[in-house]
Amino acid sequence: MLLRALRYLSLLPEHLRHRGLLAIGEDSLRLPSRQVSLDELRSSATQALIDRMIATMRRTEGVGIAAVQLGDNRAIACIEFTAKHLAEATPEMAATHKMEAVPLTVMVNPRVLRASSDLVEGAEGCLSVPGMQAIVFRPRHVAIDCLDRNGAPQTLKLSGWSARIAMHEVDHLKGELFTDKMERKSLAVMHKWLHW
Ligand SMILES: [Zn+2]
Repeated sequence: MLLRALRYLSLLPEHLRHRGLLAIGEDSLRLPSRQVSLDELRSSATQALIDRMIATMRRTEGVGIAAVQLGDNRAIACIEFTAKHLAEATPEMAATHKMEAVPLTVMVNPRVLRASSDLVEGAEGCLSVPGMQAIVFRPRHVAIDCLDRNGAPQTLKLSGWSARIAMHEVDHLKGELFTDKMERKSLAVMHKWLHW
């Protein structure tokens, strides 16, 4: 309601976009994504969406992306943390966050099976929250059930940095943004590479 009121007052544009992605303030970023059937997943339209997500993530140097950021409500997200991303982290950050390269992983209909009660803090940004970062506490270890882009079931067991990236994307598919759970006083202008 608040967003609609702001738009009515012309304080927000009709479509909030940043580098081709929906930005915070867009109503559809707040809606839960819907499950994708195997038939739909294997359709050329869904495969093209996944290709577009990967291309957009790489073009914007993000480390993850959810379909909802492209305005699509299918429960699909991708993560990828490349050697180039890793090289841009300071050695201290890489060690603190146990950063390691994560190969391109497509998660369809992800469901968190387990999340450790042991939380770790880390700075996060988001392609849909341009220019900002904040500290968010995340589980140190997670297990996520999902399908790959071909429909094969997979269980991802992730720790540290890769767990953080995956949980950030799972949140997108629930209509949640990192700003919902950030340590509010940590909000700051971001480092260039911390976005997904
Ligand atoms: Zn994000």
